[in-house]
Amino acid sequence: MVTVTESGHDQGRRRTDGGDPLLSVDSIDTHYGESHILFDLSLTVDRGDVVALVGRNGAGKTTTIRSIMGLTPVTNGQIVKGGEQIQARDPHEIRKEGISWVPEERRVFSGLTVEENLRLAAHSGDDEQADQFEEIYRRFPRLDERRGQDAGTMSGGEQQMLAIARALLGPETDLLLLDEPSEGLAPQIVDDVEDIIRELNEDGVTILLVEQNAEMALGLADYAYVLETGEIVHESPADELATDREAMESYLGVK
Ligand code: ATP
Repeated sequence: MVTVTESGHDQGRRRTDGGDPLLSVDSIDTHYGESHILFDLSLTVDRGDVVALVGRNGAGKTTTIRSIMGLTPVTNGQIVKGGEQIQARDPHEIRKEGISWVPEERRVFSGLTVEENLRLAAHSGDDEQADQFEEIYRRFPRLDERRGQDAGTMSGGEQQMLAIARALLGPETDLLLLDEPSEGLAPQIVDDVEDIIRELNEDGVTILLVEQNAEMALGLADYAYVLETGEIVHESPADELATDREAMESYLGVK
């Protein structure tokens, strides 16, 4: 376990095998106007891993994702994806580097069908689009069965599946940022979402999973970071954190 002290620590530098991480967030600061939200935040995501970023309401989890995607540009530090510095780029340039995100609250268009939702999210020309759609339907047979169904009539889990499918359209994604995929879902549906995430990861997609539901996130993740008022206060393998009752209670309020 690595516990962060005020005097600093080696946060975000956990690799021991010498390889480069897929994503490296190095000492970033992020502001909304005058408000300083993220403080000297570092984390790494290794290729093939699920990495959890957990923390209480308002800790800065969404802001971290927004910083990585270039939606709220960082004011300090750097972000490197696959060897390329991306922190000063536009979101659509960052998307082309293979990073995609699924926003909080599963923003699907409820009055449109599954297929229409996918079509709206598609960026490419007709042939490429048809190939991508078939790939999506292969990966998510439940969406295939519901191509003509209005998204608003599907279960929360299926809507999350559609939101993930939308994010995977366009440039090939090797790093998916998921913002609170379990939010507002019944426990049984959360299990379904966990299965979707696990299968995606087994299919080769590296995942940064932002969650308030720490138990769910830690059950899926290889490695975990805890964020508290804009600072990483703990990092360790996910199973170590999950079984550390003191840390779970003090950082996350989980008894
Ligand atoms: P939640 O789980 O509630 O989404 P979070 O950990 O994702 O929480 P953020 O949404 O990143 O936290 O918010 C971090 C802090 O930044 C909070 O204090 C929030 O009030 C503030 N904040 C978020 N968005 C803005 C904004 N557009 N302008 C100013 N402050 C903001």
